[in-house]
Amino acid sequence: MAILIDGKSVSAAERELIKKQISDMSVKPGLAVILVGEDPASQVYVRNKKKACADVGIYSESYDLSAQTTQQELLALIDKLNKKADIHGILVQLPLPKHIDETAVINAIIPEKDVDAFHPVNVGKIMTGDYDFLPCTPAGVMCLLKHYNIDPAGKECVVVGRSNIVGKPQAMLLLHANGTVTICHSKTKDLKEKCLTADILVVAIGKADFITGDMVKEGAVVIDVGINRKSDGKLTGDVDFASVEPKASYITPVPGGAGPMTITMLLKNTVKAAEIKGE
Ligand code: NAP
Repeated sequence: MAILIDGKSVSAAERELIKKQISDMSVKPGLAVILVGEDPASQVYVRNKKKACADVGIYSESYDLSAQTTQQELLALIDKLNKKADIHGILVQLPLPKHIDETAVINAIIPEKDVDAFHPVNVGKIMTGDYDFLPCTPAGVMCLLKHYNIDPAGKECVVVGRSNIVGKPQAMLLLHANGTVTICHSKTKDLKEKCLTADILVVAIGKADFITGDMVKEGAVVIDVGINRKSDGKLTGDVDFASVEPKASYITPVPGGAGPMTITMLLKNTVKAAEIKGE
């Protein structure tokens, strides 16, 4: 039977450390959270982020803008927040309405306040290993591995998914941790064979229960980043837990695995941004 990787308790432990760190700081870290439109899932994410800030002692400001907000108006707000002294991190909740160019918005946040680590400067820094911020979801996965003393060094690591926010940076972080990394995507031939080589398998594709037991090596560590809502309203990951769990040595459940770590890493980045500003 696999050991369950408990993202909720790791996240709670990390947040206690963050709280303690903030109580020792002379400057209170500040985060601005911008939401454009009324997407219900985004509203929940934003609410959770603001609550998490309050719980650890981060000052937060929220900007709930209408779906009709123009790109120019959004860029003007970002420009104002870039200059605001009590704001150390700026987060624009994605996705944005279709009429707004996401890349232009990401590029407008100054790298020092880019606590999502999506700005090309921060992406480049992650590539070289000389980074200030790590993207939240892949950083959360690395934090989970660390808590369970799972060292990627010398291991075959397979990442399924190559998005800019999860798959690509995840592969880079595993590489920095000395894993031998294979990245798979929708055009990969023999996906099953690739997955079967994995000592550590990280899946982020957005397809419910896609990875099944026959695709996983005996004793593999399986991290499921996927969040999918089934027709009955329940959440499920990209990994078919029932068939994979008996073969894995460690596995993340969904919900309660990789998910809770993402916001915790955002808090960590905000504290780091405030520290850098204060240096
Ligand atoms: P995305 O931008 O849609 O990217 C999906 C990736 O999966 C793409 O690279 C795609 O390949 C690949 N893919 C799709 N179908 C595939 C298949 N049949 N075989 C192999 N690869 C396939 O998604 P994302 O933003 O990375 O998110 C992935 C999942 O993680 C979603 O369920 C999302 O909700 C979840 N997520 C969770 C958190 C969290 O906080 N835990 C954060 C972010 C995302 P191509 O590039 O070839 O199209």
